[in-house]
Amino acid sequence: MSQLKSEIAAIIAAEGPISVERFMALALGHPRHGYYMTRDPFGRAGDFITAPEVSQMFGELIGLWAASVWQTMGAPDKLRLVELGPGRGTLMADLLRAGRVLPGFSEAVDVHLVETSPVLRAAQKASLAGRVAALHWHDRVEDLPPGPAVIVANEFFDALPVRQFVRQGGVWRERLVGLDGEGRLVFGLAAESEPRLTQQAGEGAVLEVPLVGHGIMRALAQRLAADGGALLAIDYGHLATAPGDTLQAMKNHKPVDPLAEPGEADLTAHVDFAALGRAALAAGAVLQGPVTQRVFLEALGLGTRAERLQRSGSPDQARAIAGQHQRLVEGGRTGMGELFKVMAVTHPDLPMLPGFDRLTTPAEASGEEP
Ligand code: SAH
Repeated sequence: MSQLKSEIAAIIAAEGPISVERFMALALGHPRHGYYMTRDPFGRAGDFITAPEVSQMFGELIGLWAASVWQTMGAPDKLRLVELGPGRGTLMADLLRAGRVLPGFSEAVDVHLVETSPVLRAAQKASLAGRVAALHWHDRVEDLPPGPAVIVANEFFDALPVRQFVRQGGVWRERLVGLDGEGRLVFGLAAESEPRLTQQAGEGAVLEVPLVGHGIMRALAQRLAADGGALLAIDYGHLATAPGDTLQAMKNHKPVDPLAEPGEADLTAHVDFAALGRAALAAGAVLQGPVTQRVFLEALGLGTRAERLQRSGSPDQARAIAGQHQRLVEGGRTGMGELFKVMAVTHPDLPMLPGFDRLTTPAEASGEEP
């Protein structure tokens, strides 16, 4: 049994079954044995791959986006350029390189990284050292200094723990992680029902409540509405709130049982963009999109960028670029273009930003908030 699995089993033996939220927080963020705390999970040899690791074009286009938002904000002398969960630092490195095309942007930015993993902080330092005057790391968004900001979050919200509730006999009960007779981790349900959840759903339906992510979104939306700027959230998930169990564990690019190896497999939940958007609107920010990653990247000129890189490289490089382009925009199970959604949360005075073609109004976003 993994060390973390025995620790979780000991907690349950002492305190009783724990919430899915606590299980997920321990599996990913336990200070010594948490999944992200001990490893670099990206790439072919790792467990999964993200868009900035697929292609430099992804971070470059986001760099142009960030620089153009800065210009739209009136090119302030000082801008907090923030990334949430920067992984290996690849996106930020590509962003900063591309951002140099706008005179003054590189000089104005002050880079802040929100990252809990010491291993990934070291990887970020290696990718970014020398590219900016100073780098600042924070454990939590609450520790970010105030001021106008452009905030980028790629595959960050999916890594935050969610609570789950299951419909049983006309009520919602919280899904818990407990132990069976042989000491194995198993799912179960709380004895008490949750009276504050009033949604109707069929027997067995699963409702996910991402309180941690919504708390982070509220805090960031409040600061953007007060100090100016925009947040770009890119993640896999759905546009409308609907019941469904999206808890998923990945190891070596394959789905595995979420309870089998806590700390050894990545654990995520799909992002409910409607609910995340409502959290931002309630905090006084404006919502642009969400749109699919394909629509966003094509609107930013991915096609043109890919063509230019293809023309300047060898036939092998050209083929590789074509493959990356396809991976970023195509639909289906292997593509990132349809499953991934992109949403901007902005100060109310900002106009429509590149890549977006519509706002989500509070009326459209309204719906029951779990
Ligand atoms: N954005 C990167 C990495 C995505 S993986 C990319 O696209 O490649 C998720 C990232 O979020 C990792 O860097 C992980 O260590 C970080 N992370 C996970 N939970 C976090 C938390 N609660 N606070 C801060 N960072 C977190």
